[in-house]
Amino acid sequence: MKVPKSLVRRTQWPSSLSRPVVTPLQPSVVYASPDPDALDAQYQDGSGYTYAREGHPNAAVLAAKIDMLEGATGGIITGSGMSAIAAVLLGVLKAGDHVVGGDQLYGRSLRLLTQDLPRWGIETALADPTDVAAIAAAIQPNTRIILVEVVSNPTIRVADMDGIIALAKARGILVVVDNTFTTPRGYRPFDHGADVVVHSVTKLLAGHSDATLGYVAARDADLRTAIHDANVTWGLTPSPFDCWLAERGLHSFDLRFDAAQANARKLADALSDMPGVARVLYPTRPDHPDHNRAMALLAGQGGHMLSFELSGGRAAANALTRAAPEIAFAPTLGDIGTTLSHPASSSHRGLSEAGRAALGISEGFFRVSVGVEQVELLIAELGAAVAAATNP
Ligand SMILES: *Cc1c(COP(=O)(O)O)cnc(C)c1O
Repeated sequence: MKVPKSLVRRTQWPSSLSRPVVTPLQPSVVYASPDPDALDAQYQDGSGYTYAREGHPNAAVLAAKIDMLEGATGGIITGSGMSAIAAVLLGVLKAGDHVVGGDQLYGRSLRLLTQDLPRWGIETALADPTDVAAIAAAIQPNTRIILVEVVSNPTIRVADMDGIIALAKARGILVVVDNTFTTPRGYRPFDHGADVVVHSVTKLLAGHSDATLGYVAARDADLRTAIHDANVTWGLTPSPFDCWLAERGLHSFDLRFDAAQANARKLADALSDMPGVARVLYPTRPDHPDHNRAMALLAGQGGHMLSFELSGGRAAANALTRAAPEIAFAPTLGDIGTTLSHPASSSHRGLSEAGRAALGISEGFFRVSVGVEQVELLIAELGAAVAAATNP
């Protein structure tokens, strides 16, 4: 009898003396080993790949690139920015521990700290990270982690990173920095003594709004292992395709950062000259409330994010986005193109009007994630929209 061939059996990958210049996309969920001894040895020394949730080449390639930017080693890729934060909390904390968070963290981070962690017996206090005395006052004997963002969203305040890190070191508390807004071009947490860095890679690092991913790196090897195990055990791990897309995005990160930052600087100045704009928040402008700290901490890198306040209420805000239909009105940041967000109707809609007012977020408050378009186009579009919204 003739033995049949099967389409189910994998075909040998064609060999070639030349190699592809692009990182191959490897979607394989499992890896076949030659024999049980080899598999055993692999589990023993952690070498090679076995199962994609435990690790895969596209995540490793991406992690190594972000490690380079952050001055880190052994970075871990996660399925989203939130899962990067979750992996740190799950890997480090136990019931009875306490966390101090910045009071203007990303909305989901605030929710995780104030609503979800307490269900697991972990209490949280929030404090203003621009005021190290407020952070010190929030610390308890059982505080294990301080979670901060360097630049706050959407109010663009700059945290007292040196003060917070010195305080945490003295008390044996881990400093976890969500570096999404600043990016490693604006601030490198490990250079300043932070213990853990997390990113939403979804934003400017990947940069094209087509991949949802996170990154986390820890300075200490045991801490790194604990976070890695949490990532793998809780299944927070990323898809190879997203990693592949993000690696491609990272190739142009430096170029995009430079272009977006140069645009943001010019757009901030142009907005501040527009009659319908009540105020502009951009770290390197002399009128910024944390200007001196921004110049020292960020080495003059104002980044790609700015906020401004339009005169007039919700009606003017509605008119502004309608008058600038080419600028995506979308609750994200870090895209290659400029996006506008309106915190009062999105990220901060859960707060009372008084709560928003305390942060300076009115109905006219907009956040701009500046992209790499020609800045003349941006200034013309936003200028026309501001005029249409404030002189109806
Ligand atoms: C977007 C964002 C996150 C969450 O990242 P996802 O990739 O959307 O899960 C966390 N922190 C900051 C500062 C962010 O901007």
